[in-house]
Amino acid sequence: MTEAQLTPILCDLDGVVWLSHEPIGGSVEAIAALRAAGHRVLFVTNNSYAKVAQQEETLASLGIPAVGDVLTSSGAAATLLKPGQRVLVAGGPGVVEAVESVGAIVAGRTDDGSSPEAQLKTDANIDAVIVGFHRTFNFESMRRASAAVRAGAILIGTNDDATYPTSTGVIPGGGSILAAIATASGVAPIVAGKPFRPMGELVKRTLKITDLSSCWMVGDRYSTDGAFAKTIGAKFALVSSGVVDRAGAEKLQHEHKFEIVVDDLLGLVKHLGITI
Ligand SMILES: [Mg+2]
Repeated sequence: MTEAQLTPILCDLDGVVWLSHEPIGGSVEAIAALRAAGHRVLFVTNNSYAKVAQQEETLASLGIPAVGDVLTSSGAAATLLKPGQRVLVAGGPGVVEAVESVGAIVAGRTDDGSSPEAQLKTDANIDAVIVGFHRTFNFESMRRASAAVRAGAILIGTNDDATYPTSTGVIPGGGSILAAIATASGVAPIVAGKPFRPMGELVKRTLKITDLSSCWMVGDRYSTDGAFAKTIGAKFALVSSGVVDRAGAEKLQHEHKFEIVVDDLLGLVKHLGITI
C-alpha cells in the first residue's frame, strides 16, 4: 500500500463540493485528481433524509462517481443499534434505510398517521427513537416519540444542526426537531452526525481502520466539520467556498489552531503536492 492510499480524505458536501447542488468551481476536477493520486475520498454528510443511493446519484450527476463512498448521519445513528432492536423513526427514508441496513427493525414512523389501536402494537417496547430532518413533523410525531422515550427508549438524533441552508433561505434543521422531542421527553439525546463520535465510528467501519489520525477532513463549517476532525483526531482543511469567507476562515484558524485554510478543494489538492 502506498502512503497516499493511507491518507483518506473525508469530504463535506454543502459548501465544499456544491452549493445548492451547483458544483463549486474545480471541485469535480479536484476529487478526480485526489483519487488518481491514490487517496480514498469519502463524502461525510449530516444529511439524514435522502437514501444513500439518491446522494450517490446526485454526485454522479455532477461527474463524481461515489458508490460506496457516501456516509450519512443516518448511517452514523445506525452504528448505535443492535440487530433486532425495535426503532421508532421520526425522520425520513434515509433513517429507515440505515436502521434496516444493520438488522434493526422499524417498528413504526411517527408520521405514519396510524390509529391509536395500531400504535398500541407499533409503539410498544421501543429500544430507540431516531430523529432526523423531515417536513411532516408535527405535534403527533412529538407526542409519539417522547412517549416512547419516557417508556425507556434511548433518544438518538442523526444530527443537531439547528438550521439548514436552502436557495431560498435558512429553514429549521433536524436539530430543531430533535430539540423539541428532547424537551418533551425530558432527556438529553445522543447525537450521531458530525461533530460527534458515531460518525467517526462509521468512517472507521467503512475504511476498516481504527486510527483516523492520517485522514484529512475537509469542510466549510468549523463548528461541525472542524470539531469533527478534532473528535476523530484527523487533520482539518477549512475551505472558504461555503459559509465563511477567507478572512473569516483565517480568524477561525487563529482561534482553533487547525492545519490549513484553502479557497476550495483545488487548494487542498495543491497543498498535497498533486498536479492536475
Ligand atoms: Mg458544509
